[in-house]
Amino acid sequence: GEPPAAMAVPQAGQGDLVLLQRVGVVDPAGLDDYRAHGGYTALRRAFELGPAGVIREVTDSGLVGRGGAAFPTGRKWQATASQPDHPHYLVCNADESEPGTFKDRVLMEGDPYALVEAMTIAAYATGAHRGYLYLRGEYPRAIHRVQHAIDQARARGLLGDDVLGQGYAFDIEIRRGAGAYICGEETALFNSIEGYRGEPRSKPPFPVEKGLFGKPTVENNVETLVNVLPILTMGAPAYAAIGTGRSTGPKLFCVSGSVDRPGIYELPFGATLGEVLQLAGVRPGLRAVLLGGAAGGFVRPDETDIPLTFEGTREAGTTLGSGVVMAFDDTVPLPRLLLRIAEFFRDESCGQCVPCRVGTVRQEEALHRIAERTGAAAADDIALLREVGRAMRDASICGLGQTAWNAVESAIDRLGAYE
Ligand code: NAD
Ligand code: SF4
Repeated sequence: GEPPAAMAVPQAGQGDLVLLQRVGVVDPAGLDDYRAHGGYTALRRAFELGPAGVIREVTDSGLVGRGGAAFPTGRKWQATASQPDHPHYLVCNADESEPGTFKDRVLMEGDPYALVEAMTIAAYATGAHRGYLYLRGEYPRAIHRVQHAIDQARARGLLGDDVLGQGYAFDIEIRRGAGAYICGEETALFNSIEGYRGEPRSKPPFPVEKGLFGKPTVENNVETLVNVLPILTMGAPAYAAIGTGRSTGPKLFCVSGSVDRPGIYELPFGATLGEVLQLAGVRPGLRAVLLGGAAGGFVRPDETDIPLTFEGTREAGTTLGSGVVMAFDDTVPLPRLLLRIAEFFRDESCGQCVPCRVGTVRQEEALHRIAERTGAAAADDIALLREVGRAMRDASICGLGQTAWNAVESAIDRLGAYE
């Protein structure tokens, strides 16, 4: 039987839904229903285009990664496809662990065949015959549904030795994450699949050259891959016409906190923060909005005209990350909230490098001292936080340590959290 249902009823956005079009509409267990709703037309088009043609479409679409870092997907695929070393691997990162992020879960639970089809296209384009789906263990319903979709696709010749009778072999294996945030970092994830400790590797070499088992690997987030379906069915120019010049296509926003209707909202890139908050029914007394999750940053309630694009948030000195929009009202004690974020990073640091292993502890200690003084910060604590924060950002091996100070810094500088 299925694991029990949990939260995350998808919320519609405005206009036609692209990524969420089948979520809540199709039977997630029914391959025929998926096909009746347009499923597997993108894979057929991929076989018509050939691998180079698929990569051209993805490049022309302007698609960039939706896990948070916004790296151009076409460039990543091309870099892997052109590697002489074989085999090539495809890894889908479904270890969605950024606090406040739950978009990939909604996609996998509501439209699991879409991910299976999209992984098949990505593998075909980049010359991979084996795909791993690294799915966080806290998502039993998603694991169950995607596994069922994989099994059905294999039984119907959509995975296996001869996909769609095209002479192309591809199959997918699910690996369950065991609850470590760091295993969402792509190279820690590879180590985890290989059976080693989930510790990040130094980059470069990038995974496109030396990834899983030391072989050329494409690693993409769930939402990134699912975007490939509309790119192929509507064509790159029509897709690129959605959104803004440098952030093309539709985006899923994960809205939570002090709003009446928390959930996933699909909007074209370019909607403002205020528009998204209004859709979700923001409650009175807004004090702060956290963009991009714990690794992101806070903005003030009067900054709601920030366009939610990669370039717009960057220009505003903040980040879009994976699309987290978390609203806090004035009943939330900021010092306590910041301490909780610092605890999270101290807990989740893998401990491999000193700036992060020690820095996350020092940061938590300082925030603890401040919180004990009911939020009154001594100047030397703030100075220490800045020094430790700079060291973590500049000298940590991976994104965890590099971003562990972001939220605290933005709370001090933008919100005046301790004034
Ligand atoms: P990154 O910028 O180092 O890399 C992004 C991607 O581009 C990687 O796949 C990397 O291999 C590739 N890449 C970068 N330069 C390359 C090059 N020269 N050649 C080939 N490939 C190249 O970022 P990252 O450390 O992978 O990810 C950080 C992001 O992860 C943050 O933005 C954060 O918001 C996000 N994040 C997301 C979650 C989540 O649950 N979705 C959790 C934690 C962090
Ligand atoms: Fe590990 Fe932190 Fe260093 Fe990343 S930055 S490798 S999580 S200790």
